[in-house]
Amino acid sequence: MPNTETGAGRVDTPPHRPLALVLFGSPGSGKGTQAKLLVRLLGIPQISTGDMLREHVRQHDGVGTAVEAKLKAGILVKDEVVNSLVEQRLAQPDTARGFILDGYPRTVAQADKLCAMLAARGVQELVIHLVVDYNVIIARLTGRRQCPVCGTLYNLVSKAPKVPGVCDLEGAKLIVREDDREPVIRERLEAYGRETRPILDYFREKGKRVYDVDASHDPPEGVFRKIEALIREQ
Ligand code: ADP
Repeated sequence: MPNTETGAGRVDTPPHRPLALVLFGSPGSGKGTQAKLLVRLLGIPQISTGDMLREHVRQHDGVGTAVEAKLKAGILVKDEVVNSLVEQRLAQPDTARGFILDGYPRTVAQADKLCAMLAARGVQELVIHLVVDYNVIIARLTGRRQCPVCGTLYNLVSKAPKVPGVCDLEGAKLIVREDDREPVIRERLEAYGRETRPILDYFREKGKRVYDVDASHDPPEGVFRKIEALIREQ
C-alpha cells in the first residue's frame, strides 16, 4: 500500500499492490465528497455508479432510458446493469493502479460480483464505512443543492453558496436533484437499510478489511484525514 510520497501530499500506490477502495455508507454520508478528495491524494480514479447512471440518462441512450424512472424514484437499478457498467469501467487502463468505488456495491449480489472481479485481478478491497447519524443524513440530503453546469455540491447548512441559490464558480442557478426530494429520500434510505447495509456483514464474514469512520460531526477535511491515516496504516 502507499509507502512513498510525492509532491503536495500525494501518495503513490506501488503498481504491484493496487488499491481497491470501497467507500461505503448511506446516501448523504459524504461518499462523493470523500472520493473526490481521495482522487487528489492517490491519483487513482473515482468510479461512481450514480454519476455513470446519471450520465447515461443525460445521453438518452439505451441504459439511460431503462434506468431513468428508477433514479427519479430512488429505487435501485438492476444488479446486471450496474455490474456490467462497473466491469466495463474496470477494463479501462486508468484503473490499473487502483480505483475508488463510490456507491457500488449496493446489494449483496453486487458485492459478490465485485469480490469475483477483484479476485480475478488479484486485488484486495479496503472498505471504508462512513458512519453518520440518521438526523444528520436527513438534514444534509434535504439541504443539498447542485450546480447544473459544473456539478459542484452545496449545502444550505454546512456549505452555502456565497450568493443564495447561485453557483460560486459558474454563476448558474442551483438545483435540487430530483431524488433529493423528501419522499424519494425516504425511499433511498429504506433501500439502503434493506439492501445495502447487509453487505457490511457479508464483507466481515468473508474476512475483508472493513473500517468504520465516524463522519457525522467533522467537516469533510477531518473525515478525510481519518481515511488517509487508515490508508497509510495498511
Ligand atoms: P446516493 O448515494 O446519494 O443515493 P448515488 O448518486 O450514489 O446517490 O445514486 C443515485 C441513484 O442511482 C440511486 O438511488 C439508484 O437509483 C442508482 N444507483 C447508483 N448506484 C447504484 C448501484 N450500485 N446499484 C443500483 N442502483 C444504483
